[in-house]
Formats: sequence, C-alpha cells, structure tokens
Amino acid sequence: GMERMVANTHAMSNGPGKPGTSDAGFVERIRDAIDRQELSMVYQPQADVFTNRLTGFEALSRWRLSDGTMLPPDVFVPMAEQGDAIHLLGEWTLRAACTAAAGWLRAGILDVPVSVNLSARQLDDPGLVLKVLGVLAETGLPAANLKLELTETAMFSQGADAREALMQLRGAGIRMVLDDFGTGWSSLATLRRVPVEALKIDKQFVQAMVEDRDAAAIVQAVIALAHALDLTVVAEGVETAEQRLYLQAYRCDTLQGYWLSRPLSADGVAEFLAERRVVIGR
Ligand code: C2E
Ligand code: CA
Ligand code: CA
Ligand code: CA
Repeated sequence: GMERMVANTHAMSNGPGKPGTSDAGFVERIRDAIDRQELSMVYQPQADVFTNRLTGFEALSRWRLSDGTMLPPDVFVPMAEQGDAIHLLGEWTLRAACTAAAGWLRAGILDVPVSVNLSARQLDDPGLVLKVLGVLAETGLPAANLKLELTETAMFSQGADAREALMQLRGAGIRMVLDDFGTGWSSLATLRRVPVEALKIDKQFVQAMVEDRDAAAIVQAVIALAHALDLTVVAEGVETAEQRLYLQAYRCDTLQGYWLSRPLSADGVAEFLAERRVVIGR
C-alpha cells in the first residue's frame, strides 16, 4: 500500500548506496501498475497569452494506487529514474499521450500538439529515437503534433550520442521544449547549440513575479532573450489574471496554469473544449 511506497521513497533518498532498493523490483512494480491500469495521463491546456487561442496540451502522468491514493509524479518519476524503470514508464507515457492526441485528431476534435516530458535518463537509451518514431507510426500521430519537454540538465549535460538523438528527433519533425528554464545553469552559448523551439519558464518565477521585482526582471529578461533567439516562451503555473497581465506586458507567447485549467482527464478535455473557454482553430 501507500505506506510501503512512501517508506520506499524515504529509503531511496537515504544516501547514495541505496542498499535494499532493488531496481528490478521497481521495474516489476511499474509493469504491474501498467497491467492494473493504475497509471493514467492528464492533459493541461496551453493558450496564447493575448488571444486565448488553444496552442496545445502538456501530458502529465498520474499513478492511482489500488487503495485510491494518488501518487504524485514528483515522487514516482524520480524513483523510476534511479534505474531502468524510467524506460518502461517513459515509453508507456509517450504511447498513452500519442494515442489520445491521435484519437482527438482523427475525430476532428482537435489539431494541436501534445507535449510529453522526457527524462534525462531516457536519452541514455540508444533505442530511444526508434521507439519514439515507432510510437508515432503505431498511433498515427504526425510528428508535427508531438513536442518533447526536456529539462536543462537533460539538454546540456549529455554526451555526443544524446545530442545526436535530439538532432534525429528534431530532424524527424518533433519539436523540443526546454523545460523548467531558470532552475538550472544553462549558458547563452549552450542555448544556441540545442535544437529547441521554445523555452518554458518555471512556475517559481511566474508565481513570484507579481510580488518580487527580481523575479519579474528574470521573467522579462528570459522572454527578451528567447525572442532574440527566435524561440517562443511558455509560462507555466499561471494561476491569476494579474499574472496573465504581467505576461502580456512582457510579450510572453503562451501560458499554462490553473488560471486556464487544471490538468484534465481525456474526458475532461472534451468538456473543456465544449465550454469554449479557449479559442479553437486558427
Ligand atoms: P513540470 O514538467 O514542470 O510540470 C508542471 C507541473 O506544474 C505539473 O505538476 C502541473 O500539474 C503543475 N501545475 C500546472 N499548473 C499549475 C498552477 O497553476 N499552479 C501550480 N502550483 N502548479 C501547476 P505535476 O503534474 O505534479 O508534475 C510534476 C513534475 O513531474 C513535472 O513538472 C515533471 O517534471 C514530472 N512529470 C510529470 N509527468 C511526467 C512524465 O510523464 N514523464 C516525466 N519524465 N516526468 C513527468
Ligand atoms: Ca514539463
Ligand atoms: Ca516546472
Ligand atoms: Ca519539472
């Protein structure tokens, strides 16, 4: 149950040796969770800061334990990243999101990209490019309708093979988004070398921006920098109309957050579209 999971989480964070944590065990645990349909995806809409036109969705994973407890991804993704379970989880996540997006596209409901988070560890997998292209072929989702969100750590602290994989994915028409911008240590020089089309400003800056002049200056500077490099900017964690006004003043492109919508189940997406809280289409 939940207590065991939480106890395991604590055990795993207790130092580098991590005795007693069996990676094979966690791979099995993820496999079981998939078989028992405990994993699911939710989708959070993104919209143009000015026009409120729907620009896409971010796919986020959820784990509902058999007793009904929700395990947050901040807990189980890092656990999976400690070993090979991340490859299983990552592939399941990608397939689930692409299946949903391809379904919406086929039904004529929606033609916007879905963004899937890719863990830095997934770039260690030499089969990653073929897996991603395989999932697109299998689900029928066009490459233009998939974006991959990678953190600064994933984009920059990788070897030549990882960089080559990113280039191949980009070459296949999949767009890359640099996630959690501002929380790492990327330099302007490295920013020019990675094949990204957008930066995502982490919610800690967006949420501090209205109260804190330094945070506001950072948000403003990041947006200006991104635009100078021909990148678009997504602000995450937008909760208030006031934050949206600031983002308009700073000429940010896209917003995502509770102000627009919480992450939604696949059924919730259909209801959200029916409510017409966003502009759909061009
Ligand atoms: P992230 O990629 O930075 O995702 C944004 C997080 O902010 C999500 O948390 C989202 O639910 C939350 N959020 C969105 N709008 C608001 C808002 O207005 N206010 C606040 N306070 N929060 C908001 P979530 O879903 O709990 O995911 C946490 C993190 O777990 C993600 O951060 C991402 O790093 C990771 N994650 C989630 N799903 C996946 C996945 O499928 N694969 C991988 N590799 N990582 C995932
Ligand atoms: Ca993300
Ligand atoms: Ca973030
Ligand atoms: Ca994150």
